Amino acid sequence: MSFDDRFDFLYKMILVGDSGVGKTNILTRYCKDEFNLENRSTIGAEFATKISDIDQKKIKIQLWDTAGQERYRSITVPFYRGAVGALVVYDVTKRSTFENVKRWLKDVKEHADENVVAIIVGNKIDLAQARIVSTEEGKELAERQGVAFIETSALSATNIEEAFRSVVGDILLRTP
Ligand code: GDP
Repeated sequence: MSFDDRFDFLYKMILVGDSGVGKTNILTRYCKDEFNLENRSTIGAEFATKISDIDQKKIKIQLWDTAGQERYRSITVPFYRGAVGALVVYDVTKRSTFENVKRWLKDVKEHADENVVAIIVGNKIDLAQARIVSTEEGKELAERQGVAFIETSALSATNIEEAFRSVVGDILLRTP
């Protein structure tokens, strides 16, 4: 193992939310600093990894994307299994994706690790003119659900890094 491959903790994290909200682009932005304007990116892989320095620890994040399984809400249990972090993503320009956040969160709580740390992520904030769901609504939902909240743009890279830092920070707080 080379020096650059060393890490203190390995965390499985998952991206859930309706089809088209930007999960794949959040993954590619975070893990590869790339963005793809085409509808279905061709990454093919079910997960990507990245090692980040967070709170003086080297954290290896293994980030799983649904690979299209979410289209018919057919995500299989192995996808959730062992996940200690979850980004529950909606599109701020599409209300139906926001309304489904509760259901995704419920699935995460049922099938992921019992101590899973979830964050609600309102994506595509670069599309300010098309915004339908306000920041306030997002915050309120997250408060009611007892999870963190952040708004992002995978396109402009706004708050992507911060979303992962928030989740990992909370996981570390729970790690003895
Ligand atoms: P997924 O189905 O949830 O994985 O969503 P994708 O990552 O495939 O994105 C669906 C579409 O939304 C694609 O056309 C992306 O280019 C676009 N998209 C994703 N994130 C953003 C964003 O932050 N801003 C904008 N404007 N478009 C985005």
